[in-house]
Parts: sequence; C-alpha cells; structure tokens
Amino acid sequence: MNSSNLTAASTASTPNATSPSNFIREIIIRDLETNKFGGRVQTRFPPEPNGYLHLGHAKSICLNFGLAAEFGGHTNLRFDDTNPEKEEQEYVDSILRDVRWLGFDWEGRLFYASDYFDQLYAWAVQLVKAGKAYVCDLSAEEIRKSRGTLTEPGTNSPYRDRPVEENLNLLERMRAGEFPDGSRTLRAKIDMASPNLNMRDPVMYRILHAEHHRTGKKWCIYPLYDFAHGQSDSLEQVTHSVCTLEFEDHRPLYNWFIEQLGIFHSQQIEFDRLNLTYTLLSKRKLLQLVDEGHVRGWDDPRMPTLSGVRRRGYTPEALRNFCAAIGVSKTNGTIELAMLEHFLREDLNRRASRVMAVLRPLKVVIDNYPEERVEQMEAVNNPEDASAGTRTVPFSRVLYIERDDFREDPPKQFYRLSPGREVRLRYGYFITCTGVVKDANAEVVEVHCTYDPATRGGNAPDGRKVKSTIHWVSAAHAISAEVRIYDNLFLKENPNEVEDGKDWTSNLNPNSLEILSDAKLEPSLANAQPGARYQFERLGYFCADPDSKPGAPVFNRTVALKDTWAKVEKRTRG
Ligand code: ATP
Ligand code: MG
Repeated sequence: MNSSNLTAASTASTPNATSPSNFIREIIIRDLETNKFGGRVQTRFPPEPNGYLHLGHAKSICLNFGLAAEFGGHTNLRFDDTNPEKEEQEYVDSILRDVRWLGFDWEGRLFYASDYFDQLYAWAVQLVKAGKAYVCDLSAEEIRKSRGTLTEPGTNSPYRDRPVEENLNLLERMRAGEFPDGSRTLRAKIDMASPNLNMRDPVMYRILHAEHHRTGKKWCIYPLYDFAHGQSDSLEQVTHSVCTLEFEDHRPLYNWFIEQLGIFHSQQIEFDRLNLTYTLLSKRKLLQLVDEGHVRGWDDPRMPTLSGVRRRGYTPEALRNFCAAIGVSKTNGTIELAMLEHFLREDLNRRASRVMAVLRPLKVVIDNYPEERVEQMEAVNNPEDASAGTRTVPFSRVLYIERDDFREDPPKQFYRLSPGREVRLRYGYFITCTGVVKDANAEVVEVHCTYDPATRGGNAPDGRKVKSTIHWVSAAHAISAEVRIYDNLFLKENPNEVEDGKDWTSNLNPNSLEILSDAKLEPSLANAQPGARYQFERLGYFCADPDSKPGAPVFNRTVALKDTWAKVEKRTRG
C-alpha cells in the first residue's frame, strides 16, 4: 500500500461537508480569484465510444461533474469519436446510460467530436496556409523510424518543405478520397529535434476509408486525438480540461494547436488514473475479456465496468463516495479493492433490507414441533432504518440451515449447531441438536433437534445463554434460487505482472464464479425485481439478477459481509 492510500483512508473516515480538497480545486479557486475565465467553470467528460465505461471513468466523471457543480459551472458530455474502426452506437448508448446511472446530468450538453469535423478541417487548411502543416507521403512505419528517440533527434521528412499550394491541393484530394489508406498524412510542422516526441511533426490527419457511426461515408480522412481534443475543448469554451497523467506530455501540443489557431484557450490539467488491485481498467483489455469469452459480456458482474458493477449490485452512491474519498493527485498509485468494497458495504448497510437465505442447505427437523403448525415470526427489515418496518417469516417443523452452521465433530471455537449443542434460530426459538441422519456416504443429510417453546423471539425466560444465532428458512415455504458467488477476476494484485512468455490472461482466476443452484430463500423474495438489493443475514449483500424469472430468482453476491478494509484502516490509523 502506498502513502496516497493512507491519505485516502483518513479522508474517507472523516466525512466532510465540502468536497475533499485537491490540487485541481485549488487551481479553479485561483482562476476564479484572478477572473481568468471570466468567473466561469466549464468542464467536460470526453469518452471514446470504443467500449463500456469502467471504474476509472467513474473517477473522471465524478471529478468533472463534481468540480463544475461545486463552482456553479457546467459539464459537457462529449464523445471523442475520431476513430471509426473501433467505435459503435452500442457503446454510445451504454455510456449515456452509465453516466446517468452514476447520478450525473449533462443537461442537454451532449456533443460529439465528429460534429466538429468540418471546423477541424477548416483549421487544418488554416495551418497549411500559415506554413504550419504539410502533407507527408511517408508511411506510418517510415514516420516512426524518422521520429528519433528520447536521446536522439528525429529527421525531417523529405516532404516537409512542400509549397503551400501543393499541400492545399494534396489535402483537398486526400479529403476527396483520391488516395488509399495510409498513403499520406497531414502533419504539423513543429520541430523534429524537440525534446518532446509529441512535438516532432505529429500527424494531424490520416486517410481511412471507413464508415463512421455518425458521419457515415462523408469523411475518408480522420483527425487524430491531438488535433481533435483541444480544439473540441476550445469550441465548447471548456475552461478546465482535466485528463489523466499520460497526457501530460501532450500538453505542449494541445497548447500549440490552440495558440497557432488563435482560438479560445482551454487549460489542460492532468490527474492520476485510478488503478485498483486485482482489477484491470483498460477498455482494450476488457474488450478482450468479452471477445475471448472469459466473461459473459460487458455487464458480467465480475467486470469492473459500470454496467458490470451495477448488475452485481453496486450503488451509484457507493461509487461516488469512493471517488470523493480517493481524491486526485499528481502521481499514479494503486488503490486497494478492499477500500472500494468498504464504501459499498457502508452504503448497502444503510439501504439494503435484511432477509434470510440459505445458500448450501442442510435439513433440520424439529421433532417436538407440531407437524401442521406454521408460525409467522416478526423480523426487522433494516436495523439501520426504523422506517423500513418489519415483515413476517414463516416458521415450521422442517427448516433449512446453512451446511456450514453444523458440525458433527465441532472443533474448538465452533459454537454453532452440533450434537447436544443449543443455538438460537434468528427470530425463532432455541433449538438443541439431538441426532443426525446420514446417507450411504456417511454424509449428514438431516439434523434432528428439539425446540424450547418458551424461547420464542429468541430469549430464554430462565436467562440461559447460547453462544450463537443462526439463520434458517422454512422448508415448506422456501423459494429455490440460483445464487452466483463471485471472487476477484484476477489472482494477482497487479494483473499485469506476468512471467516471461505469458500474458495477463494467465492471471485470470479460474474460480471467479461459483454457481449455487439450490439455494433456499425466505418467501418474501419470490418476486424480487432485478436490481433489488438485500442483505442475506450473516452472508453478505446480494442483488437480484435480470436472469430472474417469476418464482425462480437469480441472485448475485455483491460483496460478502467481512470488511477487511475497515481493519486495515484501523490498523494504519492506530
Ligand atoms: P482506456 O485506457 O480504458 O481505454 P481511455 O482513457 O482511453 O481509457 P477514454 O474513453 O478516452 O478512455 O476516457 C475518457 C476519460 O476518462 C478521459 O478523460 C480519461 O482520461 C478518463 N479515464 C480513463 N481511464 C481512467 C482511469 N483509470 N482513471 C481516471 N480517469 C480515467
Ligand atoms: Mg482514450
């Protein structure tokens, strides 16, 4: 764990009415004081629609929308759609859904870089006319070779000094579709000896005869990120353009284009990407997981996508609280997944109804309980929220308990049910185990007990104590369900750490999904709606999956109850 995690932890434990302080807020406050942008704060979230949003994007979304909201500004949602080969409407739709789900509203300020293609082309012509850009006939490979290295300068392209008229003519013909893919590019004429490789005559346009999901066949040349992003910011009068640290080296180029064009100067500010242990946050790799069938789709509950964690049962509030707590910094680090889960539990604890469910059922017969009797036991829905009220749970002679809650030969410290031992059934009675029935393999298949009728509700009038309380469901009333238990998708804290000759997929956890096909639920869950979240008492938080059918629910385990982060936090804070 690095020191920024410790900082994040202490921020998290002292909830603050105002947003946690960070260096970007400081910059904005200073800019407001000096009236740099006329008192305006305009941010944007600029996803490329080439995949689904992931938890890293949540950090960027919370930051951009959060900063604007705090200072009375606005946030644009802009699709950075300059790469038609990898972009699709499906991704656009999923991104809109996910940003909304996370709780943010772009209030109609929805833009696409492709809306600016005409303007960007006009600006390219302007730079050519000013002698600041030229058409280059080198191939991509030749350009790479002539670029030089960090220690050696690059070499000028033989086409660098083409006359303006020839450049204009070639650029127009590139646009008109006269040349094949990759045969020419438009490059900025800056400095092949610049210590910053991004300034060594970067490519502005490439030829690509590809249909775009919005502009169709109108264009066969497409601007590169560096020639599209800053100008899009400028067109939208974005004041603070925050992006991740890997773009720090692009900032001189971002500024160069804006300055050469003499247009509104947005300010780029870089912050650290979110990295999480046991998790990969890269759309390219997540796409590979989907394409190669390692997961069931972009919204597989094991995926760190927003659609995946939503299906798993995460709440937008938990994600927003987490993002506020981790803050932003100028150096990349890695946050513990346990910290995210801590915020998740904290939120679910407040809002999730408690219910009883048995994941691995073991039959219990209460021999002295009348055969036909059914009692309705009153159960509290949420001890954290009195307004959530109570419900009744049927109790009868034959129950299911968790297989783990019984041991024929209890080890020391095992206080749950075992022969001769008395335990409390939650909201029920005290029961004492009197014997077991075994199958041909000597496995216990049924436990026999007696109950004490005087202990209804969970207390003995004579004051005797039991050491444990276990959950149960009435066999005759139970709903059978499929429950999907998830573990980390990767075995290594850093899934990118691999031995020579292997790739990151070798770190996939083969046991990341366990399906329990015969869980038993209390009857109130028969018609749980997909997306409904519950705490299964003593087990964890669970969320009804869209695969549920009436009477046959499917549940995802969102997160188990044990909170390792809280322990880490306690230890590190002493
Ligand atoms: P990926 O590497 O996963 O493809 P990206 O940066 O290419 O991510 P974009 O769609 O371009 O994805 O990202 C939109 C915005 O989200 C950008 O401003 C980007 O900096 C930010 N972003 C992407 N990943 C992270 C992350 N892990 N942490 C914080 N911000 C991120
Ligand atoms: Mg990108």
